[in-house]
Amino acid sequence: MKSYTFKGLLTENGWLENITVSVDEKGIITNIAETESVNSEIVNGFALPGFQNAHSHAFQYAMAGLAEMHQTGQTADDFWSWRTTMYNLALTISPDDFEAIASMLYAEMVQNGYTDVAEFHYLHHNKTGVPYSNLAEMGERLMRAAEKTGIHLTLVPIFYQKGGFGTAATEKQKRFISPDFEAYQELVKASEKVATNYKNTKIGLGIHSLRAVDEESIKKIATFLQANQPMHIHVSEQLKEIEDCLDFYGKRPVEWLLDTVDLNDNWHLVHATHLNSHELNGIAKHKANVVLCPSTEGNLGDGIFRLTEFQKQNGNWSIGTDSHISINPFEELRLLDYGQRLISHKRNTFVTDNSGNSGFNAIKMAWKSGRKAMGKSNDTFFKIGEPFDAVVIDSKLPLIQATKTEHLCNTIVYTGHSSSILGTIINGDWKAKHGKHLALDHIIKDYKKTMEVLAVRL
Ligand SMILES: [Zn+2]
Repeated sequence: MKSYTFKGLLTENGWLENITVSVDEKGIITNIAETESVNSEIVNGFALPGFQNAHSHAFQYAMAGLAEMHQTGQTADDFWSWRTTMYNLALTISPDDFEAIASMLYAEMVQNGYTDVAEFHYLHHNKTGVPYSNLAEMGERLMRAAEKTGIHLTLVPIFYQKGGFGTAATEKQKRFISPDFEAYQELVKASEKVATNYKNTKIGLGIHSLRAVDEESIKKIATFLQANQPMHIHVSEQLKEIEDCLDFYGKRPVEWLLDTVDLNDNWHLVHATHLNSHELNGIAKHKANVVLCPSTEGNLGDGIFRLTEFQKQNGNWSIGTDSHISINPFEELRLLDYGQRLISHKRNTFVTDNSGNSGFNAIKMAWKSGRKAMGKSNDTFFKIGEPFDAVVIDSKLPLIQATKTEHLCNTIVYTGHSSSILGTIINGDWKAKHGKHLALDHIIKDYKKTMEVLAVRL
């Protein structure tokens, strides 16, 4: 049993000041009160709910920043050329490499205030494309990385069957492939079994994209979904994908989904960048979620999601770091907002009927849908009976120190950076403090060794 006293704790209704949170030995919140308990740790900080990272491909962290040599006078560098670089990397990674890269990445996430991650995982098989004897070998390496770093993991084993609409998988995709729905079911079952050994892991379901899985299998997987289990899918990220889908199905991707499956609030449509109004309205009407990854979408030149219109219909959205070109939730929220401001010439992106407090609304909206992306149903930031997960902002920073609580969330979201974070608490324990994960030295050692062996960055 321990307790922390904060200068402020953010609730869905605003700040509580000088508040003490007590937790039991498992890190579950037992009490939230204004009175300080005798042995309470006094924290010079403001606690926000931990950020939810709703979309990650851990191995891509190893190539962050390496696809930026753009030469003039040659074929345009775009998403598809970036993908070739990514495939080449995917072919080289061993289970040990995977664990080392994911551990480094998840430590970075925790340092940056993420307490949960949904891993969109499709690097399933060995380098020759043969399944490991433990079908969930690579998934288990992600679970180990999550355990080392303390982050809550929702592992989403991805169903990846084909190379494109109606075309077979290519040689470079051989590590991703489940040939049919039954093979995918086996993979999910193996992942669920292994996950019982890891206290921080849940299992979701996912389809890589409409181009990567056939119609019958998509229908089957949609019915296989259990209550509260999240279902993730990449959709409408690239214009070429829309054209290919129109050619193959005679419909746009989200239009096809709306007509074919029971799209509901378990579904998390990743990117959903290019939507017509019918699709945009359909997602909102069915209460499905979109997962926006502004730094990756910007980096890949995807386009800008129609967030302002989506929000007018109370659409649900979360954020993800996807390719990990950035691992900073403040940057994701700002990029998301500024993209809308730049095209609308207005500044009120995150405004709701009840509140014009942008930073607060952004935190609340991303958190609520982010929790669902993890397969977690609680909708209260800090609740007795739930794990205590928080990112704590340093109250001694000059800007924060001079700010009254009314402007605090906006100051944090619009000016915040990694060093604004005093630390991150997961399951009631500090996991990172003053920008450093508590297990960082060990994690960095393994990561450096892996990067030397892979030799992609050095
Ligand atoms: Zn992705």
